Amino acid sequence: MKSYRKELWFDIPTRRAFINITPQVRECLRESGVHEGMILVNAMHITASVFINDDESGLHHDYEKWLEELAPHEPLSRYMHNNTGEDNGDAHLKRQIMGREVVVAVSEGKLDFGPWEQIFYGEFDGRRRKRALVKIIGD
Ligand code: ZN
Repeated sequence: MKSYRKELWFDIPTRRAFINITPQVRECLRESGVHEGMILVNAMHITASVFINDDESGLHHDYEKWLEELAPHEPLSRYMHNNTGEDNGDAHLKRQIMGREVVVAVSEGKLDFGPWEQIFYGEFDGRRRKRALVKIIGD
């Protein structure tokens, strides 16, 4: 069995963003040489997500609006977590609902996606270097 590990680094200048990382994950798969197996991609931070959905700008706008309604960034006093001196109480909650990781099957050397599926890194407390882990196992 082959095993492959890589960290994808991000330095997002805004507090929040969604980045399509499917091309980078495909490149990892190519580097791994795995033909049949599984890929795990997970955010390595508790204020960021990795999730699968459509690469459609209206949907991403809807996510932003929906997440702000559920867990608005301000007022900072809304979150007990911010009593620690941090200002990212909302980001922890946004990450929880958007998820930590995705697992994708690898079949015949390809990401075995359903229609329109793409992998995204979701940032909720950016403006610093952060990363996601790609782990691939198989033959
Ligand atoms: Zn925090």
